[in-house]
Amino acid sequence: MESSSRQQPSESSRRNGRVVVVGGGVAGSLVAKTLQFTADVTLVDPKEYFEIPWASLRSMVEPAFGERSVINHRDYLTNGRIVTSRAVDITNTEVLTAEGRRITYDYLVIAAGHDHPMPATKAGKLREYEAELQRIEAARSILIIGGGPVGVELAGEIVTDFPEKKITLVHSGSRLLEFIGPKASRKALKWLRLKGVDVKLDQAVDLSSISSSSAEAGPKTYNTSTQESIEVDCHFLCTGKPVASEWLKKTQLLKDSLDLDGRLIVDQFMRVKGQDNIYAIGDITNVREIKQGYVAQKHAEVASKNLKLLMEGGRESKMAIYVPQTKKKKIVSLGRRDAVAQFSHTTVIGLVPGLIKSKDLFVSKTRKLLGLRPDVVCS
Ligand SMILES: Cc1cc2nc3c(=O)[nH]c(=O)nc-3n(C[C@H](O)[C@H](O)[C@H](O)COP(=O)(O)OP(=O)(O)OC[C@H]3O[C@@H](n4cnc5c(N)ncnc54)[C@H](O)[C@@H]3O)c2cc1C
Repeated sequence: MESSSRQQPSESSRRNGRVVVVGGGVAGSLVAKTLQFTADVTLVDPKEYFEIPWASLRSMVEPAFGERSVINHRDYLTNGRIVTSRAVDITNTEVLTAEGRRITYDYLVIAAGHDHPMPATKAGKLREYEAELQRIEAARSILIIGGGPVGVELAGEIVTDFPEKKITLVHSGSRLLEFIGPKASRKALKWLRLKGVDVKLDQAVDLSSISSSSAEAGPKTYNTSTQESIEVDCHFLCTGKPVASEWLKKTQLLKDSLDLDGRLIVDQFMRVKGQDNIYAIGDITNVREIKQGYVAQKHAEVASKNLKLLMEGGRESKMAIYVPQTKKKKIVSLGRRDAVAQFSHTTVIGLVPGLIKSKDLFVSKTRKLLGLRPDVVCS
């Protein structure tokens, strides 16, 4: 159901133009917050809140953690409009929402990243974390499918808080965490195995066998591509989510601006190919670099600068240029204290990288970026 929460933009914001931001995730929330006193901003998102994705796995074992990492859009967007709905079409002047609302824009920012069903309210999201915790508590054995950063971090959270559970992690690749170097992969594998996690590489779980049996209570059997059967009480699917561009493929305006992977082709200013007033940021873009939250935040900074410049009458020649990230530093948390980190010349595991990430999971930092106090929950 669509709802719209209005806040009258200031006179100067109205004069500069209307900016519509589609998607209130890592990138979209930051652009909306940054531009709210420069432009008449409308944020379109199917839920009333922004969830810090990398804090969600901790919230599954400690739902109270979600109080600070699930942030109502209204808390940081105090001078803009929030439309709780999904964008389904775009013309060169309007965004059309699922319920038929038309929102006029002068500038559009598409930050739709990944889409998957989520509760519409913060209270609903916190209840979902509670339900996940109950599922973990009730299970004696747990299967984690996927050995990328999400699967590894979830295994780390569960084994740290529930060392008595039998955890199996199945990964289709030959090593965990393929986005970082082999040395860091090996260290993470060793850490998990030392904690008792049964890691199975080079095999995939037959997902069709899950859907038929997952609704029933009690232990279930999952088959893998190497004809192994794994009996566990519950599972968590930690494989990648598709980019949220199915709806864009149906638009006349932007269907030809997508690459073969369904990502929006952008130029060095984060502007969509062939469009003067449409920008795209975050995971939905085709920039050749790792898809990560800190990268999405950098896109948001560049797009915000350029929109401010243009709305205040600046010349295109002065626009900020986005330089794709090549940073070698990558950190994967392993529970509340440890982490594995890859720096330019070395790889470290344990408490030292854990100090950087694992306690707070950058929640305070992300809240500060949105202009919020790190410790206080506004609503
Ligand atoms: C569990 C997990 C852990 C992660 N850990 C890290 C980490 O440690 N460090 C790191 O840097 N990155 C991490 N990432 C990756 C990071 O979260 C993503 O790169 C980042 O979220 C991308 O930001 P985005 O704004 O492009 O998209 P998203 O954050 O996915 O936001 C997209 C938003 O658009 C909305 N949307 C989708 N379709 C529509 C539509 N049609 N209309 C309106 N709204 C729409 C969605 O509901 C969502 O709110 C992690 C991701 C996950 C899932």
